Amino acid sequence: MELMIVIAILGVLITLAVPSFKKAQISARWRKCQSNMKTLEGALDNVASEHDEGESDIPANIKKACWDDSAGKVDITQTEMEYLLKFGYIKHILKCPISSQVKYQFDTDKGEMYCPFHKAYRSAKNPYTNNDNS
Ligand SMILES: [Zn+2]
Repeated sequence: MELMIVIAILGVLITLAVPSFKKAQISARWRKCQSNMKTLEGALDNVASEHDEGESDIPANIKKACWDDSAGKVDITQTEMEYLLKFGYIKHILKCPISSQVKYQFDTDKGEMYCPFHKAYRSAKNPYTNNDNS
């Protein structure tokens, strides 16, 4: 009998806790996404400062992101990621933690990465943060 009551109470507690766990998880994924974008911005900065504009083995989209101010939103695809990885600008392939299908974009107007899944720039505030924590 007591065991049943304990199990019932645990069940209620878990039911109450799950939504806040989910919220925390979603919030953590956005922070991870932002940190990926920050790393990518840094990587593009380094490419831009280490190479001349004429360097031919740099993928076209990286050239656009680094040197073409009029390009707009430039996709950072698998090809670009592999280039950045190969030459040590990033340590591993960086994708939105929510969907690996998402291609990060570099906005040459803003000079900032954009996540099409989160529909947000790297510097955007965390929309999932509650008032009750950090
Ligand atoms: Zn994202």
